[in-house]
Amino acid sequence: MEEAWLPEKEPFYKPSGDEIELFEHAWHNCLAVLLKGPTGCGKTRFMEHLAWRLKTPLITVSCHDDLSAADLLGRYLLRGGETVWLDGPLSKAVRHGYLCYLDEVVEARKDTTVVIHPLCDDRRMLSLEKLGQIVHAKASFCLIVSCNPGYQSVLKDLKPSTRQRFVAIDFDYPEAKVEQAIIQRETQVDEKTAGQLVKLAELTRNLKGQGLDEGASTRLLVHTGKLIHSGMPPARAAHACITQALSDDPNLLATLEELSDSVF
Ligand code: ADP
Repeated sequence: MEEAWLPEKEPFYKPSGDEIELFEHAWHNCLAVLLKGPTGCGKTRFMEHLAWRLKTPLITVSCHDDLSAADLLGRYLLRGGETVWLDGPLSKAVRHGYLCYLDEVVEARKDTTVVIHPLCDDRRMLSLEKLGQIVHAKASFCLIVSCNPGYQSVLKDLKPSTRQRFVAIDFDYPEAKVEQAIIQRETQVDEKTAGQLVKLAELTRNLKGQGLDEGASTRLLVHTGKLIHSGMPPARAAHACITQALSDDPNLLATLEELSDSVF
């Protein structure tokens, strides 16, 4: 995490539409990109695939409520009696022209916005005040942020002044046939089992808003498929990977179990 990574082999990514083309156009035009979509729907895999396609290393930062601008920019460290400057992930990406993916950016502290804005307009620059440096981004640098509009509270939403700096790519769970193919490819389960997992996911997704914040993601289906492929009975695997991951509420758990029993 937070190290630059260039995949040697093509990371498997099955597109749902023109998202790859759209991203490539944004990148060629030095525009920042916002990936919108629920958790576990393929945004990270998409970025890994794009890094491979564009032959440009990727740095991923999982944002959390303690993550500050300094964490992104870098800091002085004491090494063997000397203070040395250590670039943070964003500074590294700007200097070297990497893709920098800030996952769930709204979770980060507000001071990160100040750093992000000048990077996402024509200036494409980063001000490292502690170092007394202004760094201009290399052409291949791209800032990518993700957000989950279904889940985030209004308070945590991106401000218009921030979101209007990005080309937005809308993600959702893939449509049934595509999701089935992804599960088969990722877990080696047979077509029938993959189809059952997609069916169960759709049933849970219909419960969204009725106590569930989100239904089962593609990620959860992949986890379940892996356990099934390695020999766990499907219902038990679904219980562990889907039902229990989605809720702690006894009523909802009972409903989810019924749904699982109706499929397996
Ligand atoms: P996100 O970053 O949106 O939370 P991930 O990219 O981590 O989600 O996706 C979770 C898992 O789902 C991936 O590791 C991969 O196995 C699978 N997956 C989801 N969508 C796709 C896709 N379009 N192509 C290939 N794999 C996918």
